[in-house]
Amino acid sequence: MLGLVEHGQVIQFCFTRKVFGYRLAQVNAFLVDGLLIDTGPSTMSREMIKACKQLRLEQIVNTHHHEDHIGNNAVLQREFSLPIRAHRDALPAIRQPRENLQLNPYQRLLWGWPTMAKARRIGSHIRTPSHFFRVLPTPGHSPDHICLYEEKQGWLFAGDLLCTGSPRGFQPIWDQKLLLDSLRKVANLDLSVIFCASSGLVPDPKRLIQRRITYWQNRLAEQAREIDIKPQIGVKY
Ligand SMILES: [Zn+2]
Repeated sequence: MLGLVEHGQVIQFCFTRKVFGYRLAQVNAFLVDGLLIDTGPSTMSREMIKACKQLRLEQIVNTHHHEDHIGNNAVLQREFSLPIRAHRDALPAIRQPRENLQLNPYQRLLWGWPTMAKARRIGSHIRTPSHFFRVLPTPGHSPDHICLYEEKQGWLFAGDLLCTGSPRGFQPIWDQKLLLDSLRKVANLDLSVIFCASSGLVPDPKRLIQRRITYWQNRLAEQAREIDIKPQIGVKY
């Protein structure tokens, strides 16, 4: 199911998978001033193309290479002749998903396989007719994760930076320490709102970022304690 929500200049695409009426998963993409930030899953490509025919699309940026963010790259590129940009390390998965992505059965079922698209390496910024976005490397959730920051508006398009990740069987966080560093980096920005791929619009960004920083600090401290305890197991006195 695809729903559209307007937040002033920004349109949110909500891709939701339901099973027996229960919401199983949701991911969001955003459109601002002709720039589409992520394209959603391929399982909803027909709905996405239909929705985009009513809108102005000029370019695509992917925040990272996961299948629920790049799934409609190819169909949108074919339909609207759009350039696609992403972090250098995301390009292999975007160009040849079958060779470079490993999808679990639940991922194939929920979001489906992306198909091959053409993409170029993103630079330090992206321009649209009315806005200037800084590209912030924010690794952790994945190695190729980026955020887009529009300083004048105080907008942060955060991809999956703020999701806590992984109920059992879901995509694990690639590097928790790097994720914590990335969160600390965006905590210093002057923000009015975050557009989050998992939560949608976040009107109180500082509070959510601080909650996530605390969460990951605690997780890492717990893991460090577990490592300290483990060598004791099996020791004979
Ligand atoms: Zn992701």
